[in-house]
Amino acid sequence: MFDKVLIANRGEIALRVVRACKEMGIATVAVHSTADANAMHVRMADESVCIGPPAARESYLNIPALIAACEITGASAIHPGYGFLSENARFAKIVRDHGITFIGPTPEHIRLMGDKIEAKRAAQSIGIPVVPGSEGGVSDADAAATAEKIGYPVLIKASAGGGGRGMKVARDAQGLMLALSTARAEAKAAFNDDTVYMEKYLERPRHIEVQVIADAHGKVLHLGERDCSLQRRHQKVLEEATSPALNAHERDRIGEIVSKGLTRLGYLGVGTVEFLYEGGEFYFIEMNTRLQVEHPVTEMITGLDLVREQIRIAAGAPLGFEQKDVVFSGHAVECRINAEDPLTFRPSPGLIRDYHPPGGLGVRIDSAAYAGYRIPPHYDSLVGKLIVHGRNRNECLMRLKRALSEFVVDGIETTLPLFAKLVNEPDFVNGDYHIHWLEEYLAREE
Ligand code: ADP
Repeated sequence: MFDKVLIANRGEIALRVVRACKEMGIATVAVHSTADANAMHVRMADESVCIGPPAARESYLNIPALIAACEITGASAIHPGYGFLSENARFAKIVRDHGITFIGPTPEHIRLMGDKIEAKRAAQSIGIPVVPGSEGGVSDADAAATAEKIGYPVLIKASAGGGGRGMKVARDAQGLMLALSTARAEAKAAFNDDTVYMEKYLERPRHIEVQVIADAHGKVLHLGERDCSLQRRHQKVLEEATSPALNAHERDRIGEIVSKGLTRLGYLGVGTVEFLYEGGEFYFIEMNTRLQVEHPVTEMITGLDLVREQIRIAAGAPLGFEQKDVVFSGHAVECRINAEDPLTFRPSPGLIRDYHPPGGLGVRIDSAAYAGYRIPPHYDSLVGKLIVHGRNRNECLMRLKRALSEFVVDGIETTLPLFAKLVNEPDFVNGDYHIHWLEEYLAREE
């Protein structure tokens, strides 16, 4: 096992990794920008190294500084968390070339899944069903014919996509060219790559993703699904496990398809295969080759520590359980509490004057916030995640309501009031929602 792990991240996820390491008796190195000198992940780690100025490009994305920090502190492995360099194949390869273990999949698999056109092709070749769409990228010249063949409405998506950027719907031939050029421009600006492809636009699907875990000895298991259909601008807002839309049979069916497919691929580490689900069918959209923000809901219903498993797998240890040992118990919901105005969603960084997180049975807070902490304006706006577990969905929602009523974050605006309203919405309570439901709800509330 590793003696010392460096965490190439910040905020709640850096803290999450520190916690797993401590329980495993592994020393931790935090890295931070000058803006994060007082951050909680720095205080909780055994050692810390300042890697640059506030701009992420010069600190958390600064590969030479991260490698140097490993060399100075003698860390033998790097955990990338999510975001930043976690899905950067070049980084994973540089880490490996320096004799440091990258806690994650191989650079080859990261690269494959980072290109969404290639990822879709790979998914199809290993027996995973995909959304009907173009064969690879589309040019302006063949766009109209491709859209006719798929059937309107169609969705233009960036091959290098992420965070919902470079995605535009075209409802008819008139709208196609505009959708194409806006998607291309957005993709070019965000990823410096204007390759786009086309998919059938599904009108009312759910977003259901399957968590997988694979060791270096050929064992690939699935840990069930998460329902992430509550989204705003293609960004997840609330996630739950299990999905209110699946029964045990459907769960086993998709889980088996995914674990069989990834076995053929020779996948290593944790990963998430994302699907849209409509009319009883699953359609692959992408695979994330890292730990996800919403991983705690899976941990709550399986009792597994996904970060611990990641670290063990990276050290070459075999998974200590079989598919039949993965038992789903009860129900879990996660709310992403952002420093944003709950109505306009405008970022609201600044000083947290007062902070009182909820507690009690079945309540978990993953957050790096504290009273007196100033949220810097340079990074994402996640203040923390409230995760609640109950023996069934009803108990879980009652507990969520209770936990939300205890939660105090003063000094900044947060999205807490949005969740307090959501837990009383009949559609949500009944589990009756799809990927556009939240935006339609917000439009009605305006
Ligand atoms: P990104 O990597 O930018 O997050 P994804 O492919 O994961 O992009 O899609 C993000 C979200 O966009 C999905 O959860 C869903 O809400 C929506 N979406 C993606 N593809 C489609 C599609 N073919 N039809 C309808 N909605 C889609």
